[in-house]
Amino acid sequence: MPTDRVHNFGAGPAALPLTVLERIREEWLDFAGTGRSILEISHRSPQYDEVHESARARLLRLLGAADDFDVLFMGGGARTQFSLVPMNLLEPGRKGDYLVTGRWSELALAAGEHLDGARSIWSGKAEGFVRVPQPTEYTVGSDAAYLHYTSNNTIYGTQFHEPPDGGGVALVADMSSDILSRPLDLAAHGLIYAGAQKNLGPAGLTVVIIRRDLLAAARTDVIDMMSYRALAAKRSLLNTPPVFPIYAMNLVLEELESRGGLSGAAERSRAKAELVYQAVERSAGFYVLHAHSSSRSLMNVTFRLADTALEPKFLEEAEARGLVGLKGHRSVGGVRASLYNGVARASVEALATFLDDFRRATC
Ligand SMILES: *Cc1c(COP(=O)(O)O)cnc(C)c1O
Repeated sequence: MPTDRVHNFGAGPAALPLTVLERIREEWLDFAGTGRSILEISHRSPQYDEVHESARARLLRLLGAADDFDVLFMGGGARTQFSLVPMNLLEPGRKGDYLVTGRWSELALAAGEHLDGARSIWSGKAEGFVRVPQPTEYTVGSDAAYLHYTSNNTIYGTQFHEPPDGGGVALVADMSSDILSRPLDLAAHGLIYAGAQKNLGPAGLTVVIIRRDLLAAARTDVIDMMSYRALAAKRSLLNTPPVFPIYAMNLVLEELESRGGLSGAAERSRAKAELVYQAVERSAGFYVLHAHSSSRSLMNVTFRLADTALEPKFLEEAEARGLVGLKGHRSVGGVRASLYNGVARASVEALATFLDDFRRATC
């Protein structure tokens, strides 16, 4: 690793594989023999089209999708999807049922409620969002068009280890912070969306993976720029797509494919998360985990120091060792280590060592 690169545990935009950054640098001034940067070429050019199609195909291939799914590239971030999902998928009289497991699902619910189309069927708020629900704890309504869940709760550090039980209703998942980190039961899902800036690439791109039967049944009265159908009909080239983030994501996906796809990613994620959880547990009582053990996230490890007054010193000393981005979300405080696909194992080893060292030096 070049000496001026730090260990980046930021929650998003997050660390990208060094090999990808180097490749971008190599191609920066002359992309694909065009004599121009990828920033300077038309989204209608054959050179870009190859990137566009390659990224679409790779994403579907990695997810194990056959012809029954399509992928859309959009702007607006995951938060725009909070509204677009109900706008496109709900007919009058139908509801989206929501599992509220953290801040992002609260906002998704609120956006759906604004359109009079969302209903919470379980909330972990009273417990402080320390876990995700068991299937026995909620019931999907008979008028539900979909069951929405947040697969990984980036702020609270909890994660569904199995998709929830939709009871036959299509699952809609916000996978912004754990997409492509593990194999997925795609068939249980009708729609998956994710902001790119955690596990896929740079900010500015949102991917939507949608089952074709849902697409075919989607509403036809949505304005074209917000319509899944209109976007799909134009291969996400209705207007200028986020060219650079799509290009960079394509390189991330290429790297992921070369490293064993989703099972490779899952293995690395499990091993990285274990290093951090074990280090925290070696100092149990000094560090206090937020999530219940059954719901622990492999992507975002959240904890406090038992003596919260030590947290600024913890973060300061971490930073002095080149461990950055560890401050917890402003709504929960404490420490959050984000261990997305782009975070190298060596960074996680450095963090585990620091957790031991800081506790020893302090106690
Ligand atoms: C980061 C995040 C969001 C917000 O994404 P934007 O692209 O900034 O809108 C939504 N949901 C989850 C689970 C996230 O982690």
